[in-house]
Amino acid sequence: MCEANVPSSCNHCLQCRPSEYIRLVQHLIEECLIFHMDRDECVRALENRASIQPAVTLAVWKELLKENPEFFSAYRSAVPGELVDN
Ligand SMILES: [Zn+2]
Repeated sequence: MCEANVPSSCNHCLQCRPSEYIRLVQHLIEECLIFHMDRDECVRALENRASIQPAVTLAVWKELLKENPEFFSAYRSAVPGELVDN
């Protein structure tokens, strides 16, 4: 279901604007990483701040791990052993 119920005016839901929505989630995750949150804190923060479903956050998190190993390795060296636990 569309969160806005008016798809033409919707600019933030996974159904209507998947690529924009994923970019938003990526951006929020990157902000969390800047604040050195771990994955679970990040999932909770996105849920509270932006009503992002945990499953969506986790899926995007995994994609970021695959596509941005440099970004995560910088993060990993700051917070050793916290990140990769699938
Ligand atoms: Zn929508």
